[in-house]
Amino acid sequence: MAANKITQAVYEQVLSRNPGEPEFHQAVKEVLNSIGPVLEKNPQYVEARILERIVEPERQLIFRVPWQDEKGDFRVNRGFRIEFNSALGPYKGGIRFHPSVYLGIIKFLGFEQILKNSLTGLMMGGGKGGSDFDPKGKSKGEVMRFCQSFMTELCRHIGPDTDVPAGDIGVGGREIGFMFGQYKRIRNEFTGVLTGKGLEWGGSLVRTEATGYGLVYIMAEALKAKKKGLDGMTVAVSGSGNVAIYATEKVHQLGGKVVAMSDSNGFIYDPAGINLDTVKKLKEVERKRIKEYVSIHKKAKYADGCNGIWNVKCDVALPCATQNELDEAAAKTLVKNGCLAVGEGANMPCTPEAADVFIDSKVMFLPGKAANAGGVAVSGLEMAQNSQRIPWTFEKADSELKIIMQTIYKNASQAAEEYGCKGNFVVGANIAGFTKVANAMLAQGLV
Ligand code: NDP
Repeated sequence: MAANKITQAVYEQVLSRNPGEPEFHQAVKEVLNSIGPVLEKNPQYVEARILERIVEPERQLIFRVPWQDEKGDFRVNRGFRIEFNSALGPYKGGIRFHPSVYLGIIKFLGFEQILKNSLTGLMMGGGKGGSDFDPKGKSKGEVMRFCQSFMTELCRHIGPDTDVPAGDIGVGGREIGFMFGQYKRIRNEFTGVLTGKGLEWGGSLVRTEATGYGLVYIMAEALKAKKKGLDGMTVAVSGSGNVAIYATEKVHQLGGKVVAMSDSNGFIYDPAGINLDTVKKLKEVERKRIKEYVSIHKKAKYADGCNGIWNVKCDVALPCATQNELDEAAAKTLVKNGCLAVGEGANMPCTPEAADVFIDSKVMFLPGKAANAGGVAVSGLEMAQNSQRIPWTFEKADSELKIIMQTIYKNASQAAEEYGCKGNFVVGANIAGFTKVANAMLAQGLV
């Protein structure tokens, strides 16, 4: 059967087996669209039904998370952990707490994670978890009780050599601490079962900064190949969470100027350059809305509606908030305004139509799978440090991160070129990530 018929048949099976999960369908489709030529060259993948197996999670866990709010009322949320693929190592991927979380979101993120982790070159399989719990407006005690209840069930399924979760939207250092404490209490063991831990108790330097820094390292590498640099460039960064903040920090360190950031309510525009100390204070310490920025910086402007950020004129756009936040119309506006490069800090922030606009307009487009792999890469380095029981210096972890991002860039661009799609990093990242996993699955037999 021709490769495109095979990928189409696999896609149809995914649709019928996973109804009502559009984000998962979207993530699978993007990969299947890239790997036809790989199947042509490697009939052994077809014979061993690698595609059919890779789109089916090894294990899917859905569980009840009961907890008590400040008023003493009992509340119930739903928890998920998708252990998607362990061909390259223990399942690895974050935990997301957001009201939009359902099975389809966790499956899309888990599927992306397989190829992303493969790209890092470290030994990590793919997984993802989360809950429809909304941390916004909850007290610290409520968040702690929720995390403890979540881990009371999850701890049966994870372990340092089995499945190692980390943070994601709504799960930062505080939540990882609460979950780690509960795991330790129930299992009576102090192990590297979670990454993103505090520095005093097993965390890695640079983990907090890793996804944002990594995004900017790979962007700098891609620009260098075009004889350009971030120095003097104007940048728009969506979101104001972990990824957005540290992407902004690194852009500023490299001489660029971030002029816009956002949250789910709206965006700020500061032509003088965003004052990151203010954003950190508002978002990391006080947990306030981005709108507050303009009461401190009077020349900055705030507008309701997060999509408006893509109307801001910029050389480089870094969507760092959430999936499908940048659509076709926004992509066209960015191109019209002269945007040269887009790097996905979030997972799948650009709709497929938006990605096509960038690729067709020859705007350099770095997909999340490659561009935001820095977070999980330093998580992998945290696992290595936990095994050795020796913490690394900031410089060592940062320089390893930089090397990993440069290698991802090199491998994705070489794969794209080898398969006749020079400059298409979507195809390149998918092929480079997939090939390694497929070879491991072949070697490990029918599992
Ligand atoms: P955070 O929870 O720290 O921050 C998320 C940010 O995005 C918040 O500012 C949030 O605003 C904003 N946001 C949410 N929805 C929207 C929206 N529709 N429009 C605009 N802004 C929005 O999460 P992270 O920074 O950790 O994660 C961001 C993205 O990066 C996610 O896609 C995640 O999967 C991905 N990622 C994260 C990694 C990590 O290491 N943390 C690693 C790799 C990928 P508000 O406060 O209003 O909700």
